[in-house]
Parts: sequence; structure tokens; C-alpha cells
Amino acid sequence: MKKTVLITGASAGIGKATAIYLAQSGYNVYGAARRIEKMEDLKGYGIKPVSLDVTIEESLVACVDQISKEAGSIDILVNNAGSGYYGALEDMPIADAKYQMEVNVFGAVRLIQLVLPVMRKNNFGKIVNISSVGGKVTLPMGGWYHASKFAIEGLSDALRKEVKSFGIDVMVVEPGGTKSEMVGLGTEYLKRVSGSTPYSSLAKGVKKMYANIEKDAAEPVVIARLIKEAIEAKNPKTRYVGASGAKLMLFIRKILSDKQFDKLVMSQMK
Ligand code: NDP
Repeated sequence: MKKTVLITGASAGIGKATAIYLAQSGYNVYGAARRIEKMEDLKGYGIKPVSLDVTIEESLVACVDQISKEAGSIDILVNNAGSGYYGALEDMPIADAKYQMEVNVFGAVRLIQLVLPVMRKNNFGKIVNISSVGGKVTLPMGGWYHASKFAIEGLSDALRKEVKSFGIDVMVVEPGGTKSEMVGLGTEYLKRVSGSTPYSSLAKGVKKMYANIEKDAAEPVVIARLIKEAIEAKNPKTRYVGASGAKLMLFIRKILSDKQFDKLVMSQMK
């Protein structure tokens, strides 16, 4: 029988590409996001779009209830929905920081809580949390984005050990630069929040660096393939790294001291 997958953030970028790739690979795929109209095209691949706002409890419960009723269970959860709002720590309103954490961390964790009872009962489950290279390395202005991804890394490590004995695997995927809507939305926000503060010239540098990353950004299907590899591995790795510059960046971070790495990053801001 086909395994049922719920992938969040399926209306754009990595999530949409993954939903299509997994559907083409024979999975029963539910794609969830707020912009249901952006998922109309997914129906052509046999994917079922579900309306979901990961920051709203009722929406999360309704999404899991609907899929459980229709498909019997959720075997694989891909926590992909995310946003990347950049701004200087001093400038960024705490309400926005909290929202960033709601989407990238609490939404993902709440979904995990909702799918775990059935996964435990089935003695089978795969949970893939989409982190980022930014879950290991940081850029200035990305404080809250990085905090959310560092949190996902730590939570995943703890969870992996909690659920292993129930037949459930937890994997982290760490993409590098990948074509999507995220950088555009994030840098628009950056301009609004830090574009005319004492951090404006650094904000320009960060924007420039992102423009460079975007030039070499990978197609989202590269990450879709990694996700498939993770969920199909008999003995999965804890982390899967891919897309533009990701492995190199993590290697450089590993061999440099904190201060050497800071220097290297700041040299790219000019
Ligand atoms: P996109 O901006 O293209 O897609 C983000 C998706 O998340 C959209 O489908 C959006 O749908 C959904 N989303 C955002 N907020 C909510 C919400 N409140 N409730 C439900 N869904 C929501 O970005 P990417 O494809 O790039 O991002 C996917 C993941 O990959 C993220 O976790 C991101 O951090 C990570 N990543 C991306 C990288 C990149 O270079 N692109 C690099 C490293 C990691 P909608 O607005 O319709 O709700």
C-alpha cells in the first residue's frame, strides 16, 4: 500500500517540488499551505492540497484530522513550511521574531505532536525536518532565522532519541541556496526593518550577498531528491546536506575558529 506523506509549505519552492517528486515516485501526497490557490496545479499530479496555517492550532488539528480520516494515517511528515525574515536584532520587533519562531519551530513541533500517536501505534514513521545550512552557520541580520533553525536542529536530535524505539526515524535536511520565494520575501522585509537604521549599510551588504547566493541557487528538486533519499533509507543518516555551496560552507565552518569565520563572512559583505 502507498505510504501517505504530509508535506507543509507545498505552495512554493522546495515544498512544491518535493510534493510533485514524491507523488511521481508513488507516494500518496498531501500538500499543505495557506495559499490553497497556489496548489491547484498539484491536483494534476494526484496530490491533495490541504489548507493549513502552521501558526493556528485549529488549522493544524483540522489538517491532521482530515488526512487521518481520508488516508487512515500519516506515515511520513515533511516539516518544510518556513519563512526567513532578516533584520538587525536591534531593529526587528519582538512580535515579528515570535512569529518567525511560530512558523519555523512551534508549527513544526505541534505537527509532530499530532502525528506521533498514530506513528507509534503503527510502529512506523518518518519525520523530516527542513533546517538549513543556516542551522549551523550564521549571517548578520539573520539572528531570528538562524535561532529558529538552530532550534530545529536541537529539537530533532532530542526527538530522534525519544522515538527510535517506536520505529520512527527523525531526519534533518540542511539545504544551501535553493530557488524559491523565500529570499525575495526575506530581503524585502530586511529593507523595511533595517534599510534606514544605523544598520543600513550592513543590510545592503547582506542583500548583496543573498543576490550572489541566488545566482548560483539550486533547483528545488535537488532538495526533493534528498528528502526522498532520507525517507527511503533503511538506516537513515541524521542529516542530509545539499544544494548550492552547502557542503563547502559547512566544511569551512568546521575548520575555522569562530573569529576566523566571522572575518570571512564580513569580507563578503562589502
Ligand atoms: P518558499 O518561500 O518558496 O516557501 C515557503 C513555504 O512555506 C510556502 O509554501 C508557504 O506557503 C509556506 N508557509 C509559510 N508560512 C506558513 C504558515 N504560516 N503556514 C503554512 N505554510 C506556511 O521557501 P523555500 O521553499 O525556500 O523554503 C522551504 C524550507 O526550506 C523552509 O523551511 C526554509 O527555511 C528552508 N530553506 C530554504 C533555503 C533556500 O535557499 N530556499 C535554504 C535553506 C533552507 P503559504 O505562504 O502559501 O502558506
